[in-house]
Amino acid sequence: MSPTDDAPPSPVGSGRFEVLARRPVHLDGFAVEDPSLGLVALHSPFDPTPSLTVLDGVVIEMDGKTADEFDVIDAYVAAHGIDLEQSARAMGTSDLDLARMILDPAVSRREVAALLAGTTPAKLARVVAVLRPHELIYALARMRVRATPSIQAHVTNRLDDPLLLAADAATAVAYGFRELETTVPVLDDAPSNALALLVGSQVGRAGALTQCSVEEAIELELGLRGLTTYAETISLYGTETVFRDGDDTPWSKAFLVSAYTSRGIKVRVTSGAGAEVLLGEAERCSMLYLESRCVSLARAIGSQGVQNGGIDGASVAGSVPNGMRALLAENLMVMLRNLESCSGNDTLVSESDIRRTAHTMPVFFAGSDFIFSGFGSVPRYDNMFGPSNFNGEDLDDYLALQRDWGIDGGLRSVGENEVLELRERAARALAAVYGRLGLADFDEAHILEVVHASGSKDLSPRDERLPLAASSAIRERRITAFDVVRALHDTGFEVEARRVLAMVDARRQGDYLQSAAIFDEDMRVLSAVTDPNDDAGPGTGYRPSAKRREELAHSPLARSVEQLLEHQRRDEGCLRVADEVRAELGNSPRDVVIGVSPAFATSLWVATSGLTVAQMLREILAGLEEEGCQGRVVRISHSIDLGVIGLSAARLSGSGIGIGLQAKGTVLIHRRDLNALANLELLSIAPLLVLDSYRQIGHNAGRHAKGMATVPTRNPYTDEAITARYHAATVAMVAIERSAVTDQPPMELRLLDLL
Ligand code: CA
Repeated sequence: MSPTDDAPPSPVGSGRFEVLARRPVHLDGFAVEDPSLGLVALHSPFDPTPSLTVLDGVVIEMDGKTADEFDVIDAYVAAHGIDLEQSARAMGTSDLDLARMILDPAVSRREVAALLAGTTPAKLARVVAVLRPHELIYALARMRVRATPSIQAHVTNRLDDPLLLAADAATAVAYGFRELETTVPVLDDAPSNALALLVGSQVGRAGALTQCSVEEAIELELGLRGLTTYAETISLYGTETVFRDGDDTPWSKAFLVSAYTSRGIKVRVTSGAGAEVLLGEAERCSMLYLESRCVSLARAIGSQGVQNGGIDGASVAGSVPNGMRALLAENLMVMLRNLESCSGNDTLVSESDIRRTAHTMPVFFAGSDFIFSGFGSVPRYDNMFGPSNFNGEDLDDYLALQRDWGIDGGLRSVGENEVLELRERAARALAAVYGRLGLADFDEAHILEVVHASGSKDLSPRDERLPLAASSAIRERRITAFDVVRALHDTGFEVEARRVLAMVDARRQGDYLQSAAIFDEDMRVLSAVTDPNDDAGPGTGYRPSAKRREELAHSPLARSVEQLLEHQRRDEGCLRVADEVRAELGNSPRDVVIGVSPAFATSLWVATSGLTVAQMLREILAGLEEEGCQGRVVRISHSIDLGVIGLSAARLSGSGIGIGLQAKGTVLIHRRDLNALANLELLSIAPLLVLDSYRQIGHNAGRHAKGMATVPTRNPYTDEAITARYHAATVAMVAIERSAVTDQPPMELRLLDLL
């Protein structure tokens, strides 16, 4: 419901509060801070005080616990997660001094990361908690590992339709996404989904990475077969109980990470505030401290990055004070541990567009290795992870934000025809692979539906067991990426065959195992090693290339002055004039002059409301006539100022009353003895004016002429972004009016007809 709904205010309560209660933000959950439940963002009174004691190169005490009190997380971090060469200095420096160092351009990013490697989890959490939101933004810009920012997409659909997945993968890559993540509503569909994503992701452009987020063993199997090219959803938790509940330990997670890495597959882990709280196992600690344990553990087990800062538990963080700030601080902790940050935004954190946008903006401004760890590139209803903070419906908004701020958020505009071509190629390539491998046969109608569909709701009902059958065959017959390459090659999709092969070959080279590694569209590896972030304040750090700047500035929504004025020609000639003669001073007390602007009915024919110049004039003249007055139309050419136009008209009129009318539709009533800036009545919101508005102006001008009282005309109600919608067009029309200005005296228009 919108606040403009016409509900009468309650007789007892406040109408203002009723309006507020109907706002979407009232659907969000807000919790009273409660450390005993872990419902606290930055600091809990039960968080440990940072400390570290090292004896003979071994940690014997950390964050208030002796070694014999360590839980599995402490034990692992103490053994593998802290650089003991740096720890004495790092732990001996105050939180404030370390926080200042993070922001100090005189200290290099490398030095900061090296020193902070010596901090314990409690210490790191304390340091980032010192930073205020605007400081966190700069810290992110400066500390992220890779210079070039990037962005990850969710590509899923409710039917697990393979052709739709392939087409959506190709579409996402065209928009600029460099990692694509899929998952399944039906677990056994996973192999088919992974294969569809792999093929679709290599249509159009090379090098996008793909993953299929499912149960760990199946996900690993898909990776080993080459059907996925990275992994991300190895979950870490900040308390031992949650680990134990999942039958896991840091050692099992480390083993899994090593399994991927040993086969040359990029891997990062997933954590993020709120998970422990949701499971009732936060051990009274703050979300930030528990997340610091996760991030420290991620470093210790050899992951190359962390997905956090707005994942499944993000709305829990968002329910408490400082929660959104804590999510941002999570991302920074990952960067400070020298790991790739895949910076959340993959969960819709609010029903309020204002809150969800505000949550994303700091990461967007700062840039990150991945600004989203899952932008929903498909419609909200098809996102099988649940809606993301931004989804397919928000793509044009996101592109506008990039353009507004000149920020590289990783995406670019794509034309409709290009998308249609890519979707068809992807659907046909996948159909060819499935046919060649004997996984399924797709009919032509299915392909064409997928090409034009927005999402799975646009597809005709079909046998939903197809992905399941294909998946069984993929697993039973041990189909690998090489089978896919051969099938693409044999069916004429040579380019795609080479690109899929290149993704497999990249594992042999191993360059994309470096922190924060992605491939650009020419298959160059951008990583901590080849593209390090060296931001040290103004004039340094990542700046978009000339080509990127052009892409960011380009918008298919942008219109030139010529385009904005195109529709003017449609109504050209709607008002025909016999001739224009020098305007005389009127002598009848019922004479009212309508002054029109310089380009009125010469270059400009349609007002911003869509009414033509003829329609506006006809209504004004009729209104005057109904009051027993005569209207004369006079072109005022020496000014585009409506006050001057109206006053000039009034000074020529026998009654002393004039009307000023611009081609764009703004209209006022003026009187001979007023100064130009004053007027009797003004309708300023031209785009909303209707025929009746002009009729009313005619009436009122007539009544003023007769010295009678009027009911003043008023601008209509509006809650629209009226200036955003019409200002570009207005600028174009004003430019035309300006170019028509001459020193010609006022000329009376002898009207032939008003069509
Ligand atoms: Ca993700």
